[in-house]
Amino acid sequence: MQRNKSAQLYDEAQQHIVGGVNSPSRSFKAVGGGAPVFMKRGEGAYMWDVDGNRYIDYLAAFGPIITGHAHPHVTEAIIRAAKEGTLYGTATEHEIRLAEALKAAIPSMDKVRFTNSGTEAVMTTIRVARAYTGRDKIIKFAGCYHGHSDLVLVAAGSGPSTLGIPDSAGVPAGIASEVITVPFNELDGLKLALERWGDEVAAVMVEPIVGNFGMVMPKPGFLEGLCRMARDAGALVIYDEVISAFRFHYGSAQTFSAFPDQNAIRPDLTALGKIIGGGLPIGAYGGSAAVMSKVAPLGPAYQAGTMAGNPASMLAGLACLEVLRQPGTYERMDDMAAKLAAGLKASADGYGVPLTVNRIVGAFSTHFCDHPVTNYEEAQDTDGEQFAQFFRLMLERGIYLAPSKYEAWFLTTAHTDADIDATLMAAEESFREMAR
Ligand code: PLP
Repeated sequence: MQRNKSAQLYDEAQQHIVGGVNSPSRSFKAVGGGAPVFMKRGEGAYMWDVDGNRYIDYLAAFGPIITGHAHPHVTEAIIRAAKEGTLYGTATEHEIRLAEALKAAIPSMDKVRFTNSGTEAVMTTIRVARAYTGRDKIIKFAGCYHGHSDLVLVAAGSGPSTLGIPDSAGVPAGIASEVITVPFNELDGLKLALERWGDEVAAVMVEPIVGNFGMVMPKPGFLEGLCRMARDAGALVIYDEVISAFRFHYGSAQTFSAFPDQNAIRPDLTALGKIIGGGLPIGAYGGSAAVMSKVAPLGPAYQAGTMAGNPASMLAGLACLEVLRQPGTYERMDDMAAKLAAGLKASADGYGVPLTVNRIVGAFSTHFCDHPVTNYEEAQDTDGEQFAQFFRLMLERGIYLAPSKYEAWFLTTAHTDADIDATLMAAEESFREMAR
């Protein structure tokens, strides 16, 4: 497969754009470096690069493209928005309709506010929690990524861990000292932190189902214990569901059937993004009316946005949710991911390549190791070089994976059984090559 045009564009991009990319996770630094692929077009489960190569896409733009590229219903909504005018700087009815849809699916949200990104949504939930409790400290879990605002770049996962900069330069020591990081999936660290700083903690923040050091389910009782301990300390619970909401079923982790006692895992605030914008920029946060009443213009916690709630993102998000509401949508993604994950594991086993696959419905992660991955340390303790080799062998065979050992494979409503078969054939060849 030749990618000369991508290489040329990368040379050019580096002259104008720092590092040649507008988000570090798009670079190939974590998979051996070199020119990343420059894409030109996407349709359904496929992307075509500037050299005309076609890829089956499991990146799904790091999550949002759950209905596949250029889904006709979503595209129609975006065209409507473009024709009606893309921004007024006023309220619109579309914002109410999307807020209504989110509330209906996520019962812990009485009130919603839209932002332009997941980063902004998470950042604001922290401000609101601080305003509500009158406390400053935040507890977060090692390896969970919550966007790139100062406070949450401490021991973040995903992009930052891939690049080996869990503590970004430029984050003031004073800010980092307000964040306490504890291990995911065990309550002892959280307990100790709360014993020591409990009356200073505004919120305990977590990805209730992790998507940023692979796909990792909370162990039974973890979320229940987390919520109980936070409440006992007078702290709020913030769920970052930027990846998990609408990924595994029509709803959020807090309404997922894997967790039978929903009242015991109910958060005070939830941050959303990605899927809810149907592929356009979006973020949102919400919570109980009492907590959300702290947000301006009702309350003293300020948050704003020229583009927030813009008509195109609202209409695209509504259209995407309409597609996801179709009966059988998640079951199909579940079936295809099950077949793909099992096939990958069997193929790797066949060639003696150690592989752990963590699957949750239509998303899974592949870890090159022979141990389970339930927390960040275990995810770090996997073979990045083997992943990089696998990534490149798959890329050569027209399979586009996220260029990081920490990121997930995402199925979309557009993938077909034939795509899964083609992917498994490419994987078989790749593992065979790796075993040589
Ligand atoms: N929270 C989680 C769990 C994420 O995975 C991400 C992005 O990957 C964010 C927050 C930040 O969202 P955005 O990239 O839209 O700012």
